[in-house]
Amino acid sequence: MTTPPTQFTANQLWHSESPEYVTAALGSHEHHGLSASEAARRLKQYGPNVITAKGGKSPLVRFLLQFHNPLLYILLVASFITLLLKDPVDAAIIFGAVLVNVILGYIQESRAEKAIEALARAMKMEATVVRDGKTMRISAAELVPGDVVILHSGDRVPADLRLIRTRDLQIAEAALTGESVPVSKDAHAAIEPDTALADRVTMAYASTLVTYGQGMGIVVATGNQTEVGRISQLIASAHDLQTPLTRKIAEFSRLLLFVILGFAALTMVLGFMRGQPLIDSLIAAIALAVSAIPEGLPAAVTVTLAIGVVRMARRQAIIRKLPAVETLGSTTVICSDKTGTLTQNQMTVQRIVAGGESFATTGSGYQPEGEITLHGAPVAVAAHPALAECLRAGLLCNDSQLVEEAGRWDVNGDPTEGALLVAAYKAGIRQEHWLPRLDSIPFESEHQYMATLHDAGPDRERVVYLKGSVEAVLARCATMLDAAGKQAPCDAAAIQRAAEALAGQGLRVLAFARGYLPPGTTTISHHDVMSGLTFLGLQGMVDPPRPEAITAVRACQEAGIKVKMITGDHALTAAAIAEQIGLERGRRPAVLTGRELENLTDEELSAAAEYTTVFARVTPEQKLRLVQALQARGHIVAMTGDGVNDAPALKQADIGIAMGLMGTDVAREAADMVLTDDNFATIEAAVEEGRGVFDNLTKIIAWTLPTNVGEGLVILAAILIGSVLPVLPVQILWVNMATVAALGLVLAAERKEPGIMQRPPRKVDAPILDSTLLWRTLAVGLLIVISAFSLFEWELQAGAGLAEARTVAVNVIVMIELFYVLNCRSLTHSMFQIGVFSNRWLFVGVGVMILLQLAFTYLPWMNRIMQSAPITLDAWWRIVAIAFMGYLLIELEKWLRRQYASRRKPVFA
Ligand code: ADP
Ligand code: MG
Repeated sequence: MTTPPTQFTANQLWHSESPEYVTAALGSHEHHGLSASEAARRLKQYGPNVITAKGGKSPLVRFLLQFHNPLLYILLVASFITLLLKDPVDAAIIFGAVLVNVILGYIQESRAEKAIEALARAMKMEATVVRDGKTMRISAAELVPGDVVILHSGDRVPADLRLIRTRDLQIAEAALTGESVPVSKDAHAAIEPDTALADRVTMAYASTLVTYGQGMGIVVATGNQTEVGRISQLIASAHDLQTPLTRKIAEFSRLLLFVILGFAALTMVLGFMRGQPLIDSLIAAIALAVSAIPEGLPAAVTVTLAIGVVRMARRQAIIRKLPAVETLGSTTVICSDKTGTLTQNQMTVQRIVAGGESFATTGSGYQPEGEITLHGAPVAVAAHPALAECLRAGLLCNDSQLVEEAGRWDVNGDPTEGALLVAAYKAGIRQEHWLPRLDSIPFESEHQYMATLHDAGPDRERVVYLKGSVEAVLARCATMLDAAGKQAPCDAAAIQRAAEALAGQGLRVLAFARGYLPPGTTTISHHDVMSGLTFLGLQGMVDPPRPEAITAVRACQEAGIKVKMITGDHALTAAAIAEQIGLERGRRPAVLTGRELENLTDEELSAAAEYTTVFARVTPEQKLRLVQALQARGHIVAMTGDGVNDAPALKQADIGIAMGLMGTDVAREAADMVLTDDNFATIEAAVEEGRGVFDNLTKIIAWTLPTNVGEGLVILAAILIGSVLPVLPVQILWVNMATVAALGLVLAAERKEPGIMQRPPRKVDAPILDSTLLWRTLAVGLLIVISAFSLFEWELQAGAGLAEARTVAVNVIVMIELFYVLNCRSLTHSMFQIGVFSNRWLFVGVGVMILLQLAFTYLPWMNRIMQSAPITLDAWWRIVAIAFMGYLLIELEKWLRRQYASRRKPVFA
C-alpha cells in the first residue's frame, strides 16, 4: 500500500487517470478497501462527509426581507411623514406596528424553516463500502477519501467517486448538471483531462442517482470538497415554504390591499373636503389599511404547516415537501404496495413443491430451526433430489444473510430471500453445498427474476440458478426435475395449477430453475437465461398482514378514502391478502392484472381504476398510468413506491410516498413523504394529521377575517359618518398588533377534533371561505362595529370623557375578539366537547391579552401614549356581557348546525 497523499485537492484530474493509478494514489485496494483504523484516521483528517449548507440567506437578510411587503412600505412612509410633522409618538406607534409585524413574520418563518431543516437532517443516508475486505453498510457521513463504495441501481451516490468497475451503470446527474437523461458510465473509458463534468463517464458524483446497473468506485472527494458541495447554493435553497394555500392567501391579500387603498384614498378625499388636517386623514387611512388587511396570515399559515410537519414526524411520516402537509388532508385514494406496507415483510416458507410432491415446513420466523415434512412426516432431503436442488437454488441465488443477535434471528437484505435461506437451513442445506458465485443479475420488479452464475469446478460447465415469479421462470424452462431428480419434459399446466393453489392461500410464490453455460463463462446477461432451463420447484411463503394496517384501512374507509393495493405479486396472492386486510369489507376482491391493464384504453382504465381495489403483477410504468387515470377522475392520489422505476409515479401522484427502511434513495428523492417504518398505518396517521392541520388553518382564517373586517369597519364607518372617531387610528394599530400576536396564533396549537376521520375528505377546490365562515365574518364584524359605537355613545351620554369612552370602545373590540377565539377553537363543536384545557397556549394568549389591555387602560404612561383613560368596573361588566353574548350567538349557530347535520346523517349512513 502506498502512503496516502496528505491532501487531496478536489480538482485533481482523477477522471483521466487509470483506475489502478487512482486506487494506488489514494492508498486503497479494490478488494480490501481501507482498514477500519485508516478510515478512522482519515475521518479525523478530512472531517465527515456532509455538506454544510452555505450560501443561504443570513438571519439579517431574512429579517430585512420581512420588510419587503407593500403594506409595510406604506406604513414606513406614513411613520416618516408623521415624524416630519413633529408627532414623534404617533410616528413611533406606527413604526411599532411595522416592527411587530416584521418580528412576528421573522420568528414564524425561522421556526418553520428550522423544523423542516431538522427533518432533512433526520433522513440519514447510508452507503455500501468495502473495508477490511468486508462489504458493509455505513452512514454516508463516515465516508473518507480512498473508501471503496459499491453502487446499485436506486442508490444515491454518497461522495465523488472515480469508478473502478461498472456494469451497465447509468446515473442521472440532474442534481449536478440539470440534465435529466441518465448518463452511461464506463470505468475503463479513456477521457481527456479537460473533459467537461457532464462527460466524465469514469466518475460518479455525490448526490446524483443510480438509475440502472451496478458499479464500484473509490471516493476521491467528500463533503464540501465534492462537486455538489462546491455549488451548495442548490441545497440551501431547496426548502420552499410556499404552498397552494399560502399562495392563495397572498393573492387574496394583494387584492384586498387595492380595495383598502381605494377606501383609504376616499378617506383622504373626504377628510380633505371636510377641511381636516391632511395628516389626520392620512393616519386614518393608514389605520384602516392596517386593521383591515390580514397581514399576519401568510406567516401564521406557514407556522401551522410547520407544526403539522413536526406532528407527522412524531408519527413516523417525514415530510419532504411542505405542500404535502396541506394536500394530505384532501387525499381521496391511497394506492399502497402490498409487501412490507400492508404486510409485515416477515416471510416464512411454508410449502415447497418439487418433483411433483408438496412438502411443508415446521418452525416459524427467521430462526433456522425446523423440519421439512411430507404428509405430516419429517423427510430426509437426500431422498428427494428435486427438493434438495430447489432449496439449493434458493440458497445460492440469494443476496441476503441471516444474522443472530441476542438469540433473535433476523435478515440482512430482502426478507423474501431471507426466508429461502431459512428453508434451506431447515433441510440441512448449508455451506457444503456452496458454489462460488461469478456473476449475477439482480432482482428487478420489471423482469421478475434474479439469476446467479456459479463455478462448479475446473473445466466443468458453469451453473446458473434463477428464481422469480412463476410466469417469468416457466417461460424460460424446457424441462423439469421429476421426483427422482431426472430431467423430464416440463408440465407447465401442472406447475401453474400448483402455483395457483399456493397463491390462493395468500402465499407469496417463487419458482426456481437451473441452467448450464459453457466452461469459462464469467458473466451472464438476460440473454443467457432466455430459454432452455430446467424447472426445479416452487416455494410458497406466508407474509402475515400487519394488524395495525387492518385497523388503518378501516379508518380510511370510514373517512371516505379508497384504499387500493398495487403489487408485483401474483393475482391470487394479492386477492387473498386483500381479503385478510379487509380492502373490500370481507369480500375477496376482483383483481386487475398488469397484462389486462395493458389492453385498456385510457378511458376504460379510468373507470377500472375507480372500481377495482387490487392490481397485481403491475409494472412501474403501469403505476404511473394508474395514478393518471385516478387523477383524471378528480381524485387526490397518494401512492407508495420503493423502486428506481417508481420515481415517475411518485412524482405524478399528489402525495408520493417512499419507504424509509426498504426503499431506494431514488424513490425517496422523488417522494413528498417518507415513512420511517414502511407501515400503511403511518399513511393513515399522516392523513389524519393533515386533516387536523387544515382544520387549524381554517380556524385561524375564521378568526382573523372577522376581526379584520370589524376593526376596518369601525374606522371606515367613523370616517364616512364624519363623527368623532370612537377609536383613534393609533389605538386600532395597537389592538391589531396585540390581538394578532396574542390571540390568533394560539389556534395553530389546537388538537385534532373528535370525529376527524369520520367525515369525507375536503375537496381541494372548495373555497376556504364557505357560507358558514362568510356568515361568521359578517356577524362578528357587525357585532364589533355596533358594540364599539354604542358603548362609546353610552359612555359619552353618561358623562364620561372622550378618552374614557374611546378606551371602552377599544376594550370591547378586544374582548369580542378574545371570546371569539374560544368559538374558533372548533368549527363545529363546542369548547366543552373538544376539552376546555386541551390547548395550553390558549391560556397563555388570553392571559397576555388581558394584561396588555389592563396596561392600556390603567398605566399612566400608556394613557399618555395611547390617549386612553381608566374606566369603571360597570363599563367592564357591559364589555364582558356583550362579548359573552357574541360567544353565545356563535355557539348557538354551531349547535343548530350540529342538530341539522345529525338529523341529516341517516340519509348518508
Ligand atoms: P411486491 O413488492 O409488490 O410484492 P415484487 O415486484 O417485489 O412485488 O415481486 C413480484 C414477484 O417477483 C413475486 O411474486 C416473486 O415471485 C418475485 N420476487 C420477489 N422478490 C424476488 C427476489 N428477491 N428474487 C426473485 N424473485 C423475486
Ligand atoms: Mg418487492
